[in-house]
Amino acid sequence: MENIRLRFAPSPTGPLHIGGVRTALYNYLFAKKHNGTFILRIEDTDQNRNVVGAESYIIEALEWCGISFDEGPHIGGNFQPYRQSDRKKIYLQYAKQLVENGFAYYAFDTAEELDEMRKTMEDKGIQGAKYNYETRAMMKNSLTLDPGESQRLLTKGENVTVRLLIPKDEDIVIEDLIRGEVTFNSNELDDKIILKADGMPTYHLANVVDDHLMKISHVIRGEEWLSSTAHHLLLYAFFGWKPPFFAHLPLILKPSGKGKLSKRDGAVFGFPVFPLEWKPENEEEHFSGFREEGFLPEALVNFLAFLGWNPGDEREIFSLNELINVFSIEKIVKSGARFDFDKAKWYNQQYIIAENNEKLAVMIQPQLEAKGMYFDIKYIERFAGLMKERVVNISEFLESAGYFFNRPAEYDEKIISKKYKPENKVAFEEIAQLLKENDHLHMGETIKSWISNHGYKLGDILPVLRLAVTGGTQGPDLFDMIHLIGNQECAARIKLFLERV
Ligand code: GLU
Repeated sequence: MENIRLRFAPSPTGPLHIGGVRTALYNYLFAKKHNGTFILRIEDTDQNRNVVGAESYIIEALEWCGISFDEGPHIGGNFQPYRQSDRKKIYLQYAKQLVENGFAYYAFDTAEELDEMRKTMEDKGIQGAKYNYETRAMMKNSLTLDPGESQRLLTKGENVTVRLLIPKDEDIVIEDLIRGEVTFNSNELDDKIILKADGMPTYHLANVVDDHLMKISHVIRGEEWLSSTAHHLLLYAFFGWKPPFFAHLPLILKPSGKGKLSKRDGAVFGFPVFPLEWKPENEEEHFSGFREEGFLPEALVNFLAFLGWNPGDEREIFSLNELINVFSIEKIVKSGARFDFDKAKWYNQQYIIAENNEKLAVMIQPQLEAKGMYFDIKYIERFAGLMKERVVNISEFLESAGYFFNRPAEYDEKIISKKYKPENKVAFEEIAQLLKENDHLHMGETIKSWISNHGYKLGDILPVLRLAVTGGTQGPDLFDMIHLIGNQECAARIKLFLERV
């Protein structure tokens, strides 16, 4: 097989949505599976839509996910530059070539003239008319004006665009690796602008020229680009270039399964739709990210891999390297993939459980320090080990078990009234004493025997003991927890509790 080269080609118009991360991931997996090259190309030719910070966000987000590039604006490579705004001159020459060969033409219409054309067509009963085989003859372009006039307008340089001359009545067949044959009739296509009045190419020209010059072998991108691909195939034919293989990914749908998941849906449904938080200066928009919501990047990657693909068997847990091994385009589904946040949480839980305590502690420690709490890393490691089966994200460790680091500020009143019997006070005092006298020992068996030997019921004592130590009713094994928090500290907590009730 010839050299496998794939690119991820985002436009830096804002933070990268998880749909974009999935596209990058599938490109990466395919490239790596075939020992190919993975390239980042920044498609920033629409200067009005470029957003400061978006490019670095994209790079940082993918790096966090473990998706790395072999070539790109941030690392260089043999096909530089990788930012389209730095390649402006290249496109101009190709646009000219198309005009010279009769595949494109100059158009000089103003916005008002375009509006007028649409109105005229509306009067004839045609809504939303395009600049195409039906209308181009009534417009101001190098096909309709005499050569002298065209030349004059070209030299004047106002409103000059280059448009593709779409042939009439031609079937354009896309051999999509996911969808099979998809046919567009050329009459459905408009004479797209390929070079704008500011001398910048549009997406279509830049994308095709760059995919060709950068020797891209496979284009894996979202379904929304499918109709553009018809234009792109014409461009490849006009240039006499061999097109890459195309694969158009299914949409990611809202949790309801109805409609495309949008960046606003995060706020609507209460889950992140961005990998990292997006909080640009001077902008009102602030979106939280999977990272900030306590997700492990491995879990997000595994979840996203399965959003539109599966290995064809029951297995669900795959590391990035395992995904590279099993990934194939044939197993990508055709229909939209429903975004199921519960599934994302399930993945995160699986990865947290499987993660070693040392790594978890490293993630938990900064959260503690942000609250001004400094604990020995070994303590945090043991804490992580006790808690990891009980949380679905990293932030929940502290949210649900702050009592490992602080004495409870209050106690669950319902449990007090239901379980605490003042006549048992002496038992708690004795247990506190036992703890005090047995520093560092695991006291589970000793305390349970003491309770039974002294005629108390475990059910009367243990829940209250937990309440005294944690303030609540949930948590890991009571005695494992006491052992970690420390027998002296727990004895003090029991005393405090008895004073307060
Ligand atoms: N710049 C396009 C985007 O923002 C790239 C689409 C493609 O991969 O061709 O998604």
